[in-house]
Amino acid sequence: MLLLNTIEEKHKQPVMTQLFSVETCLDKQWIQATNKASKLKHFVCAVCQQIAYPPTQLTCKEHENLSDAVVVGEYCLKQYLKKNTNRCPVGQHDNCTYVNVAILRNQINDLKVICPRQYQNNGCQYPVEGEEEGETTSTNGDKKVTKCAFKGELRQMQDHLDNHCHLKLLDCPFKPFGCNITLFEQDIQQHCTLQFELHLNLITNLVQSLSTTIQQKDTEIIQLKQSKPKSTQVPD
Ligand SMILES: [Zn+2]
Ligand SMILES: [Zn+2]
Ligand SMILES: [Zn+2]
Ligand SMILES: [Zn+2]
Repeated sequence: MLLLNTIEEKHKQPVMTQLFSVETCLDKQWIQATNKASKLKHFVCAVCQQIAYPPTQLTCKEHENLSDAVVVGEYCLKQYLKKNTNRCPVGQHDNCTYVNVAILRNQINDLKVICPRQYQNNGCQYPVEGEEEGETTSTNGDKKVTKCAFKGELRQMQDHLDNHCHLKLLDCPFKPFGCNITLFEQDIQQHCTLQFELHLNLITNLVQSLSTTIQQKDTEIIQLKQSKPKSTQVPD
């Protein structure tokens, strides 16, 4: 029985490659890392069992007598209705109706969360043992570990991930020349120093291939000029 429970628990784990997106439900375990489960019980999506986002509430008259409001993430609900010929996820009846709930959305946006990239890097655990507040890099043996110590309201998350996160991966500045490495902002300078030769080779190769192309075009132009009848030739 115990084994069965463990398996069931495991199956409940969401398969999410992205913990945070402003358009889909949010990973409950990630949010629970910094919030009491009891505080979140009214935010759980009836379809995916994660935190409903953006939250909608079913208003179908078929089950208006239920003691608790039925909350569903808007994306989950739309996907569900599409796949199930518009049958309500709760009552399996036609003409499912719902409203967006601004108050609920505000309450969810107020939740304090940690950086989802940091959470995932840490094997989806929190708090991190021995972590110092505000620290962005530490050493693990010889390996330098980059960390993001962000903790704030969910509403700030998109801005944090886009503009301030230490764990955001950027393209190498030599990407247009063929270096496809992605790295943390603070490591770019070191990468450029260490890979100076690689980058130089990439540029040299590009210049060479460009000059070959130019030569070919030149040859084609000369051939075209030569094949034209004299009368139509434009004087230089
Ligand atoms: Zn959902
Ligand atoms: Zn319904
Ligand atoms: Zn971050
Ligand atoms: Zn590079």
